Amino acid sequence: MFRAMGILTVKDVNLSGKRVLVRVDFNVPLGENGEISDDTRIIAAIPTIKYLADQGAKVILVSHLGRPNGEKNDKFSLAPVVAVLSKRLNKPVLFLNDCIGESVHKIVLDLQDGDVVLLENVRFYAEETKNDESFSKKLADLAEAFVNDAFGTAHRAHASTVGVTKFLSPCVAGFLMEKELKFLGEKTSNPERPFTVILGGAKVSDKISVIDSLLDKADAMIIGGAMAYTFMLAKGNSIGASLVELDKVDVAVSAIKKAQAKGVKLLLPLDSVVTDKIDFDARSVGELKVVDEDIPDGLRGVDIGPKTIDLYKKIITESKTVLMNGPLGIFEIETCANGTFEIAKAIASSKLTSIIGGGDSVKAVKKSGFADNVTFISTGGGASLEFLEGKELPGIVALDKK
Ligand code: AMP
Repeated sequence: MFRAMGILTVKDVNLSGKRVLVRVDFNVPLGENGEISDDTRIIAAIPTIKYLADQGAKVILVSHLGRPNGEKNDKFSLAPVVAVLSKRLNKPVLFLNDCIGESVHKIVLDLQDGDVVLLENVRFYAEETKNDESFSKKLADLAEAFVNDAFGTAHRAHASTVGVTKFLSPCVAGFLMEKELKFLGEKTSNPERPFTVILGGAKVSDKISVIDSLLDKADAMIIGGAMAYTFMLAKGNSIGASLVELDKVDVAVSAIKKAQAKGVKLLLPLDSVVTDKIDFDARSVGELKVVDEDIPDGLRGVDIGPKTIDLYKKIITESKTVLMNGPLGIFEIETCANGTFEIAKAIASSKLTSIIGGGDSVKAVKKSGFADNVTFISTGGGASLEFLEGKELPGIVALDKK
């Protein structure tokens, strides 16, 4: 198992007066007019930035945004982030329109203690994702120490996450990174029991390793979303025209066997909400009805049914730790979101450690309106999944150990 907890953090070192390169994850979603439509990731990085600036460090923020494919492209400029940042930090933040080069270097050498600057999108250079050594050195040359607070990109060995660590010392984790490791690592490896894992989403194939790894830790595993139909087929149920991965039925069979051998309760839907038509683009479905386990020909499961919601809720309220990853139905369509929202509500309103891991499940919990009651919401999508699989993330491995 990955020993995440031995990493040095900003609390372990004195960075006062130093120029500190801070890798943050400001990969925020942008609206049609380039406005920031969700500033969660910016807000999540504030404690580290504030701590460093208050300590008298000269803070140099570096991030990527979107996929500019190694070319300068105004559409992916980090400039819109500055306003949110300076408002949250309650101080001016200087934006530099490049991330390396002579003029950037000159400005950072002139920084005063406590100043905060934001570099332009590091992925405007193809060298970033190639973890190019000379590009890494140019970035590192701006600073005297490195802080990584970008959990969302910790699963990528890029110049700004791994390359720079060769040239800077110390290299430590920020508060957000520390929190992600604590909740996705410590709290799921050594959970307060009973520990229930809820897995949903579209595909078993994306989650094979997570299922396998979490069956070693959980007391109960709840399966929902389209993933459930591959499991139900493995169990011998008919699934109508529901989304299924026929080539992953054997994976489901192995998971069912592993759960039995380990004494993990593996729960599948007792009933489903089904329809004969789905128009995802129009966010509409045909007539909805509830059927028990076996789904008739031509119908597709779009959400978990009421009996399943009751069963899953019961398991949740009996748990002390719950980890949720993936929605339990097509939550983007309002009439198919009930199961996901009811489960989110049950998690949020129970007295337990609740961890929501990445991507669509975060969106679903936010949409349900209960996000504030959850113990921890991970900022990483792919990184959360890889971490939960027990993989070593290069961005974390590259940091200094205690
Ligand atoms: P993932 O990225 O694997 O977490 O999957 C998330 C997607 O799974 C969301 O877009 C959901 O709409 C989709 N999904 C969940 N349940 C179903 C279902 N019963 N049928 C089709 N898609 C589903």
